[in-house]
Amino acid sequence: MSEREGSLEAPTRHPIDWQNPEFYSVESVMKEMERVFDICHGCRRCVSLCNSFPVMFDLIDASPTLELDGVPKEMYWKVVDQCYLCDVCYLTKCPYVPPHAWNVDFPHLMLRAKAIQFKQGTATKFRDVTLSSTDRNGKLATIPVVVQFVNAAAKMPSMRSLGESAMGVDRNAWVPEFTTKKFRSNYIPSRAYTPKDGAKTKGKVAIFSTCYVNYNEPGMGHDLLKVLDHNEVPYVVVEKEACCGMPKLELGDIDSVIALARKNLPVLAKLARDGYTIVTPIPSCTLMFKQELPLLLPNDADAQAVKAAMMDPFEYLIGRNKDGLLKTQFSQPLGRISYHIPCHSRVQNVGQKTREMLELIPDTKVTTVERCSGHAGTWGVKKEFHAMSLKIGKPVFKQMSDAAPDYISSDCQLAGHHIEQGIGLLKKDRPATTTQLAHPLTLVRKAYGLPE
Ligand code: SF4
Ligand code: SF4
Repeated sequence: MSEREGSLEAPTRHPIDWQNPEFYSVESVMKEMERVFDICHGCRRCVSLCNSFPVMFDLIDASPTLELDGVPKEMYWKVVDQCYLCDVCYLTKCPYVPPHAWNVDFPHLMLRAKAIQFKQGTATKFRDVTLSSTDRNGKLATIPVVVQFVNAAAKMPSMRSLGESAMGVDRNAWVPEFTTKKFRSNYIPSRAYTPKDGAKTKGKVAIFSTCYVNYNEPGMGHDLLKVLDHNEVPYVVVEKEACCGMPKLELGDIDSVIALARKNLPVLAKLARDGYTIVTPIPSCTLMFKQELPLLLPNDADAQAVKAAMMDPFEYLIGRNKDGLLKTQFSQPLGRISYHIPCHSRVQNVGQKTREMLELIPDTKVTTVERCSGHAGTWGVKKEFHAMSLKIGKPVFKQMSDAAPDYISSDCQLAGHHIEQGIGLLKKDRPATTTQLAHPLTLVRKAYGLPE
């Protein structure tokens, strides 16, 4: 192929062609993987990202021809299994993304291969479907009495060992606790502030609370509301919500993603058209509405309206600051914060807004780590991938621990817990410190001097 190195134009992304029967053709996806893997073999820029690329290059380097043609095609699935759709290769590394003529979209090719695997059924399908049903799991696990049992079981070595052999959830992986006080049943409604629009931001916010905040860690959601209230931004919590669909997307279960979107999009689109900015406290959920659903449903007016209204919470707060509408008097210095930018925040292409916000706090030093933690949604808790997820995250654990911070923090709280676990493993050989995990929204609430 004779083509220019890299592209001079801004990257674009093609819609995901999941309604075309060709999308699910094994023969066609194999041909496309052969084409793209050959380009990757000649490039190798992504070798340090996840394990998909080292697996691919090892297969090629061990083949009799030392080229991709020496690798049996059935081995391509090993590359697919290692991808957790973080999107970083597409958005931060690849010079051959559209409009470049080579048209490489590695994550969406992996998504297509996963969608075919999912339709065909895999040995781990029951486990994978169960883990990715975050809304259903949350509803069941937060039933009174059940919640205490589930949380206690998650801490019992015998139950974890049973969970590992029966379900394939690694016994050592961090798993979230379920709350007895769901966010959506316990939040404080907004005060009746008059919305103040700025040049960059709208004056009222709708909160898509997310499964994780609602069923697992409601405190982050309450912190977001307190920060908005402190800044006199009126808010509503979205009346009805289902899972955003990201855990199903990571599995390749596109039918379930679309079914969830059909529940969420009409409700969210109405809020968007009523002039609300929509905010979710979890970067993966934000990315789902900002990027994946608009590419899955390119002709759906609701999906496009929600995309236009959706913002990361710190993108919103920094926008308020630029509009002169953010309170910047903080009463509580926070010391040293070691802050991690998760992949699904990086690929939103909005810059380091969380870092900018934390740096507004006086007597607070922020060190930033911009590298994959390896947690990757449900991928990192699976028995066959957990050790790799710790290996991928190790440079992050080390860098964040070396900063000797008072707080470790990530926009993705799942990544935060994974990092906390990884630092704990490093600390076996290191002196104990008093580092605490706190979400950036919690840190801002503390810095404002607002009570829990
Ligand atoms: S999307 Fe992320 S996990 Fe998948 S291949 Fe690219 S860098 Fe690796
Ligand atoms: S995804 Fe792009 S940057 Fe990464 S190895 Fe393949 S061709 Fe190179």
